[in-house]
Amino acid sequence: MRVPTLVALSVASRQTLLRSPLYGRGLGRLYFSAVPEEPTIDSRLASVRELLEQAAHASSRPAPRLVAVSKMKPAEAVRDAYEAGHRDFGENYIQELLAKAEPGVLPADVRWRFIGLLQSNKVKKLVEGVPNLVAVETVGSEKLARKLDGACEGAKRETPLDVFIQVDTSGEETKGGVTPGAEAVALGRHIAEGCPRLRLAGLMTIGAPGDAGCFDTLAACRDEIAGALGLEAAALELSMGMSGDFEAAIERGSTSVRVGTSIFGARDYSKK
Ligand SMILES: *Cc1c(COP(=O)(O)O)cnc(C)c1O
Repeated sequence: MRVPTLVALSVASRQTLLRSPLYGRGLGRLYFSAVPEEPTIDSRLASVRELLEQAAHASSRPAPRLVAVSKMKPAEAVRDAYEAGHRDFGENYIQELLAKAEPGVLPADVRWRFIGLLQSNKVKKLVEGVPNLVAVETVGSEKLARKLDGACEGAKRETPLDVFIQVDTSGEETKGGVTPGAEAVALGRHIAEGCPRLRLAGLMTIGAPGDAGCFDTLAACRDEIAGALGLEAAALELSMGMSGDFEAAIERGSTSVRVGTSIFGARDYSKK
């Protein structure tokens, strides 16, 4: 049997191969090293990027930013993705992000995006402890925006912090966010006009699983805010789409997808 044929063997035939005399002669080991049991983070990233590009191409849009959501994954996993050239990472929990952002843990040019529930009493810690924080995507109140603005001033950040208004497009209040319409517009105005150290970068939503209508709701809300503030719609980003639905989100205009599981594997919530 030729080596390329061996390499092409399916996973099901591993057992047969293990038992075969070829294994002892080294060919089997070659097979095992050529076809790793678990896909690496590097290869998972490559497949996700490919899918993003295909989805973008299919709807004649530019490929969105890929935010690799590393919550509940060790810093080594982030490093693997970093070494594969990735720089944009999303985190949900303050303590976990602070630990990963400690000097020396990961390279300083990692671009962190906070995408979790943010309590106003944690804002200062977040902004001061993560100098390479580039965005907070979960701003759902004027109070939180004000706190963030003040914390940026306190930390003497040189560049404005990008913020996204989190919009509750599914009506499931547990996920947080303002309701689309007047409340979202008012928050947009507050950030754009009252928070000089923040830059209103766009809108973010989680949405209900399987309901792509939530993405349309976010796009409509973006149009409304842009209109009210005298901006082009394209000046505001749409952060929407996760492992299970990023293709549908891209079809509906996502400019930034947040993908965890498809890159890093399933999370073990029993350890949280
Ligand atoms: C965890 C999380 C993601 C990533 O979810 P996956 O299904 O693992 O891709 C994206 N966005 C937010 C807000 C999250 O909390």
